Formats: sequence, C-alpha cells, structure tokens
Amino acid sequence: MRRRALIVGNWKMNGLIESSCDLADAVLSGLDQRADRMLRCEVVICPPATALYALHQRLGGGVLKLGGQNLSEHESGPHTGEVCGIMLRNVGCWFVIVGHSERRATGEGNEQVGRKMAAAFRDGLIPIVCVGETLDERERGAAEAVVREQIAALLPCLPVARNKRESLVVAYEPVWAIGTGRNAEPEQILAMHGFIRSLLTEALGAAGEKVRILYGGSLKPANARTILALGDVDGGLIGGAALKAADFLAIIDAVPDEY
Ligand code: PEP
Repeated sequence: MRRRALIVGNWKMNGLIESSCDLADAVLSGLDQRADRMLRCEVVICPPATALYALHQRLGGGVLKLGGQNLSEHESGPHTGEVCGIMLRNVGCWFVIVGHSERRATGEGNEQVGRKMAAAFRDGLIPIVCVGETLDERERGAAEAVVREQIAALLPCLPVARNKRESLVVAYEPVWAIGTGRNAEPEQILAMHGFIRSLLTEALGAAGEKVRILYGGSLKPANARTILALGDVDGGLIGGAALKAADFLAIIDAVPDEY
C-alpha cells in the first residue's frame, strides 16, 4: 500500500527569525514550481519555536506546513520553559515531533513520549513519534527489542478514534545515523520498517496499515532516491539537509512517482 509521502525538515536549534523566513521562502518558491509533485507529497518544516509565529504569518495555510519540535505533555500551568500543544496550534502548527532521540537523551523515557503523543492528539496536532536504537543496541542485536518497547509504550496512549490513529506518523531514526553522515543500509531500513509495520497492524488492525513510517538519519540528495523507494518507507525526517533549500528540495524531488 502506498501512502501519501511526507517529507519533514527538522531545523533543530538553528536560525533566527530573518534567516528562518529566508529559508522558508526559498523552500516555498521551490514547492510552487512543483505543484504536481505536491499532490502526492506533503511537506512540513519544524523550525525553532521562536520563529513559528513569523513563519505562520508568512506561510498562512499554504502548501508548506509547520510543525513543532517538541511539546509539553501538560495542557497549561506552572511548567516554566515548556510549550504546550494549544500554543503550537496557535502559531500555525499542524504537526509536532515527539520523542526525538536528542530529547530522549535528556531523559525523556518511553512513557513520557507516550504521554506527549497523547497530548499532541488531544490538542489537535499530528504527532511524528521518533523511535530507533543506539549503535550499542544494534551491535548487541537488540535493535528490534528496543523499537518494540518504544512502540508498545505508545499503544495505550493512542486515541480511540480510528481517523486519529491512522494519522499517526512514526519516524524510524537509528540514533547512530543522526547527524553522523552515515545512513542505515537499505536492508536495515527495509527490515526495521517492516517490523514496525507488523507491530502496528498487529495492534491496530487496518488502521496500522495507514500509519506513515518515515526514515530519518543522514538522509540527503545522494541517498534519498534509494531510501525513499524502499517498501514501507513513506517519507523522511531530515535534519542537516533541511537547512539548505536546494538539498531539501532535491530530497522532495527524489520521492518516487508512484506515491
Ligand atoms: C534528525 O535530527 O531527525 C535527523 C534525521 O538529522 P540528520 O538528517 O542530520 O541526520
């Protein structure tokens, strides 16, 4: 089953308002020249929270969508420094990344990631939940066990409504491939995406078939065509290469025609 491709740029902690607007403008003008491609490919950028409002003003409800990089599991209240889902919606976000490995490294565990995913759904956002093993875990042969636990922690936190469950996005991001220039091999990606798909369909039935599974980890123009053509790869989560409009657009161009 081919699902609508999703290409997400995670800008991480890079960019002030002016440079963020310049980058978004460059991406948007590239998308304007690719109107036919946009029918089968959804494109999201996740800039720093401080640039979201300005970008919302700039992009409106157009073809280039906005996402947050993180959210609080709480609705409001005394949580200094946190940003909740309603606030992200208020500045134009449709999506939010949840459980990125750089956040898990600061102490976010599987249960908290599950609560954050539930908060995203509650507040009307589509969560892009990151899962993936470290190098040590892969070398110990524990990659599937780690991902199985990460997915298992999400299941009790999913909403009941089928359309919401189907909108979930999972990003397989092997931690050893993030920001290292070293992408996972196609066989490793195929095997893990197939495994994640089987976990989702086992738990969610037909809804699990609709969930999009992205690959993330040193995705770039040079490897995008190969990786995005793999079965059960429904798009990409892109860090470094999302900071250059030409590279990001080249990855969008690599989405196969049959999506
Ligand atoms: C990421 O941070 O989610 C990521 C995939 O980064 P990079 O593309 O730079 O490896």
